[in-house]
Amino acid sequence: MIPSATDPPLIELSDVRKSYNLGLPSEAEVLHGLSLRVERGGFIALMGPSGSGKSTLLNIVGLLERMSSGSYKLQGEEMDGLDDAGLTLRRRTTLGFVFQFHHLLPAFSALENVTLPALMSEGRVSARQLERARELLAAVGLANAMDKRPAELSGGMQQRVAIARALVLEPALVLADEPTGNLDTSSSNEVFTLLRRMHAERGTSFVVVTHDPRLAARCDRLVELVDGRIARDEAITHTPAS
Ligand code: ADP
Ligand code: MG
Repeated sequence: MIPSATDPPLIELSDVRKSYNLGLPSEAEVLHGLSLRVERGGFIALMGPSGSGKSTLLNIVGLLERMSSGSYKLQGEEMDGLDDAGLTLRRRTTLGFVFQFHHLLPAFSALENVTLPALMSEGRVSARQLERARELLAAVGLANAMDKRPAELSGGMQQRVAIARALVLEPALVLADEPTGNLDTSSSNEVFTLLRRMHAERGTSFVVVTHDPRLAARCDRLVELVDGRIARDEAITHTPAS
């Protein structure tokens, strides 16, 4: 879809707070009233020290965890009042996830792993989804590895399978939590190039947690969390050479 001026933002967080262990002596607020707006087509780096709340924020945006208070609109729709079934539906139709550890199922081939989200959400894999899974695996350079199991693939290849899996249901937004945290420099660069290409070709939006300033510099916007607050939020200008 082509974004129009009247489209609501993809993500709109207002004064979002998150506490863990509510009511217990160990209760702790880890997000302290965060507000953040992401337009469709954004490619955002989320940085910050360990423990600053990056994963918590990503899990809230990804509807894997509920905020304690505040407002979260996804594509203009308030998520706060939805029940678990409603959240699961939005998650499946709108979001894709890439984690640091790929969570591929070891007994299944690369192709089967990529089609798994379709199987889980609809109970079957349509011919179109199977075709798309093949296309995605080809697009990530794994045309010849579709029948291989994860253990037969390198770390970088496994992560590329996980990226194909995140994209198979054509999500508007992909959330990636340290997707290259486990990879060497050249695999990291390769995986990142792939994310940028998916963004350019398909208009998918990305929020990517990374500790690597060189990778962050390849995003379009940098949001930095410190102690559960946004400490920095700025556009990244790209020089033609980079
Ligand atoms: P980051 O991803 O930036 O390293 P996290 O979002 O994982 O940070 O964690 C932010 C804070 O929330 C940390 O202090 C962490 O210990 C705490 N935290 C995260 N998950 C939980 C949980 N399930 N229960 C209690 N505390 C948690
Ligand atoms: Mg984290």
